[in-house]
Amino acid sequence: MFSRRDVLVVSAAGAVTASAAKAASFGNPDLPPQGAINAKGPGNLRDPGPQSEALAKQFPSAQFPPPTDVGGMPMDWASFNNAPKRVQNGGWARQVTQEDFAISDTITGVNMRLTAGGIRELHWHQAAEWAIMTYGSCRVTVLDAEGRPYVADVNEGDLWYFPAGQPHSLQGLGPDGCEFVICFDDGDASEFNTLLVTDWFAHTPPEVLAKNFGVPAEAFAKIPLQNLWIFQGKLPGDLASDRAAVGKTGGVPPHPFIFRLGSSAPAKESKSGVLRVADSRNFNVSTTIAAALVTVRPGGVREMHWHPNADEWQYYIKGKGRMTVFNTGPNAMTMDFNAGDIGYVKKNLGHYVENTGDTDLQFIGVFRASRYEEISLSNWLTHTPPALVAQHLNVDEATIAEWPDNAPGVMPKA
Ligand code: MN
Ligand code: MN
Repeated sequence: MFSRRDVLVVSAAGAVTASAAKAASFGNPDLPPQGAINAKGPGNLRDPGPQSEALAKQFPSAQFPPPTDVGGMPMDWASFNNAPKRVQNGGWARQVTQEDFAISDTITGVNMRLTAGGIRELHWHQAAEWAIMTYGSCRVTVLDAEGRPYVADVNEGDLWYFPAGQPHSLQGLGPDGCEFVICFDDGDASEFNTLLVTDWFAHTPPEVLAKNFGVPAEAFAKIPLQNLWIFQGKLPGDLASDRAAVGKTGGVPPHPFIFRLGSSAPAKESKSGVLRVADSRNFNVSTTIAAALVTVRPGGVREMHWHPNADEWQYYIKGKGRMTVFNTGPNAMTMDFNAGDIGYVKKNLGHYVENTGDTDLQFIGVFRASRYEEISLSNWLTHTPPALVAQHLNVDEATIAEWPDNAPGVMPKA
């Protein structure tokens, strides 16, 4: 018998302890013994190169996986950090679609910056648009399917949601515009093929425009013949004036299209972290996207859990983390995540995220679902007859009684 503690002891140099190396029962017994735990020679855990030192330093878990990692799984890491930017006067955007990130078939991610006054042109698209503001402030406008207008200002930590087909715009506010991340609820969506108001005007005969809008065709003599997409505009006036201007006719949408997630009441809170949730129960318009904003303090771990109703698309906002995903096989894969990176976990696959830095780790999990759902491993095992659990794991019932029985979210809880 080996001790569990021995298994997990790996020196800083990456060498596995002698007792751990004996534990060849880890991993799939049908395969040659796999994982660092089975690599006995002194040179096994060196990588003489060639390699990029800068990249290698970002991915210590890929370089030398934890000894318990086993098997092979589809890549669950992507990043905005190296995604090409489309830059125009007024802002820029870059995206990670399923074409770039095969596993991500439910969500396309877009990272966008707008200057103060920078406008993301009036447009609409096939997919629903959910977003989180990560820097600065922005004014959003949208018209709902009942013809009711909505205008609001969003700040860092706030969300918006525009249902598919509902036309909208974004404009950066002072003093320095904004940056945000958009999720489309479709892995095939693209920020670069949206339906743009300028494109439609330029590709409609002037006499049809005249008839449609009830003004002479000459009124359209100066319309742009190429689309604008993102362009530098003038800072808007105050919010009350814009609201008054759009509210002359028509009603008011019954639910806001924005939600202040960053300052909302925590869904879970412990000494080691906080979870804030936004889904159709509190952010009523967001019927196809649920989200959980997770903060993990240094030394904390987002507890072992899975999501029964949707894949999890993650955006890492700050700090350093390491996520391990577990699947049948068995398979276990660990990857490192830094600010600006994207992670992905298929529905029902077990996972946990450790804070590997000395500052808060924060990421947002985005789910193509109307409700946020999770199953906590410890919550399950503490709500199962203790004798039954004890027989599975060879752990005594007194120990099981100490496990958290309230799905704390982030551990340790006290
Ligand atoms: Mn849009
Ligand atoms: Mn999760």
